[in-house]
Amino acid sequence: MTITINSLSELPAVAEKVIAFAADQKIFLFYGDLGAGKTTFIKALCKELGVTEHATSPTFSIVNEYAARSNKIFHFDFYRLKNQNEALDMGYEEYFYSGNYCFIEWPEKIPDLIPPHYLKIEIKVLADQSRELTVEKN
Ligand code: ADP
Ligand code: MG
Repeated sequence: MTITINSLSELPAVAEKVIAFAADQKIFLFYGDLGAGKTTFIKALCKELGVTEHATSPTFSIVNEYAARSNKIFHFDFYRLKNQNEALDMGYEEYFYSGNYCFIEWPEKIPDLIPPHYLKIEIKVLADQSRELTVEKN
């Protein structure tokens, strides 16, 4: 599925569409350059999922935890990860296999730890600053 986002005001509708498309898939991998809009889109997804609280984990700056309706959402940013051992040390499995939504920026940093099934979201910035979102189930 490919969606063009012309302005930030379209994000809630696009987030709703992507969540519906994902269905039972809770692992979302985000690909795209710095500044593409990964974090912005993740925030739109969280809002759509009814996030009421945001807590930055004091121990691991890599993961942020959000409380959404009855469950949790985990948001990872692996940009600053030096190696995959850091993800092992933070107990990534507890999060990835918890059944909660896991939104992962920079999955390229953890090539060997990617679960077998996931939703892949690629964000590209077009010449006019609009965004092209490509969403694919794996
Ligand atoms: P990333 O997490 O991919 O590095 P950010 O989400 O931090 O990128 O976004 C970088 C900038 O791009 C922000 O200033 C944000 O407002 C802008 N931006 C993000 N998504 C869009 C969009 N769909 N349309 C226009 N601007 C956007
Ligand atoms: Mg980001």
